[in-house]
Amino acid sequence: MALPTLKDVAPTFPRRQTRQVSVGKVTVGGDAPISVQSMTTTKTADVDATLSQIYALAAAGCDIVRCTCNEPEAAAGLAQIIPRSPVPVIADIHFHYKLALAALEAGVHGLRLNPGNIRKPDQIKAVASEARDRSISIRIGVNGGSLDPDIDERFGGATPEALVASAVRELDYFREVDFDDVKISVKASNVRVMIDAYRLLADTVDYPLHLGVTEAGPLPGGLIKSVAGIATLLSEGIGDTIRFSLTADPVEEARAGRMLLETLGLRERKNVDLIACPSCGRAEVDVIKVANEAQAAFTDRDIPLQIAVMGCIVNGPGEARDADLGIAAGRGKGHLFVRGKIVRVVPEAEMVSALIAEAEAIMTDGIDAVLARADVNAEAISAAAREELVQIQGIDANSDASRIAKVLAVTDPVSDAQAGSQA
Ligand code: SF4
Repeated sequence: MALPTLKDVAPTFPRRQTRQVSVGKVTVGGDAPISVQSMTTTKTADVDATLSQIYALAAAGCDIVRCTCNEPEAAAGLAQIIPRSPVPVIADIHFHYKLALAALEAGVHGLRLNPGNIRKPDQIKAVASEARDRSISIRIGVNGGSLDPDIDERFGGATPEALVASAVRELDYFREVDFDDVKISVKASNVRVMIDAYRLLADTVDYPLHLGVTEAGPLPGGLIKSVAGIATLLSEGIGDTIRFSLTADPVEEARAGRMLLETLGLRERKNVDLIACPSCGRAEVDVIKVANEAQAAFTDRDIPLQIAVMGCIVNGPGEARDADLGIAAGRGKGHLFVRGKIVRVVPEAEMVSALIAEAEAIMTDGIDAVLARADVNAEAISAAAREELVQIQGIDANSDASRIAKVLAVTDPVSDAQAGSQA
């Protein structure tokens, strides 16, 4: 069966209509591309370390970076970070509204306020007024783990209704000072609660929404929970910017967010889409090892091709014929194919380096030029290798009627014996 390619997967998720807000040069909501966010883990006062992480995040596909602003030194750090950052910077504010005012003075492109942690209306309105005067947007960042106690009590816990009520109350304070340059998140660590909260919020307001499963945890569970929540909502057209909250290097968050959007056809592909067979008894190489080596080799190379690693020459090129480029293992050899056509046969040890060289050639010269340079003997060598393997292993055991008939014939005596014992 041919594997589907990204080219076959048209974006099929009509976006929910929202207002638009700006975070520096990035527009969020409306018809703007869904953006990827992450958060630095350095002390914001450590300007060089924070900038270094911001650059790594931007290279991994992060569109907007958030830094904690939890002390005056952090606000001072922001003043030095922001002019040198390649992407807009949002200050994350809990508890101290004056740190929000200091972050605005430092020139941040956006604020995140937690309504559960800054609860005095006058303080909330003071921040909103200052943001309004500076044309800076604010995310109302409700979090199920730090809900306003009186809302928590009223709703009996961090229910979807409670999360949305917290956001709506904050919005009401903002409107009192004529501020609505807002996006909203209602994150929970329980994926079902998170999904239901965002659905309810999407039915309640028309502001852009920032999606995330909070405190999702380390890999792989954190990734699974985040994808389950975020992808479910994106497939319903809900969500304008996303963040994976992983207990991992934030670069992994940015990569995961970007990869999810590319996988769903919601952002243009920036990096390789590696497909690989799951391997089976036919495999002539350690497919997991080769695929992992290829994945590592292509990371950060900005090669937006679909590349296949297949375990055998018998089925590999056919099953991955829609890939731009691939390699299938034969006995001690790698059979390099472009759009299903064998272009070169290389020693097994050079499989990954040959993939990289061919991918770079496609990026430089185009697929047609690479096909035109194909080794004229490659198809014949591969055909002979395939035939040799077929003779040794038999044709695909999943579909070969003659093999199935032979298997059934072996069971006949068993059936006969059972029939005899029942008689
Ligand atoms: S038949 Fe070949 S390509 Fe398919 S899973 Fe097995 S090794 Fe991989």
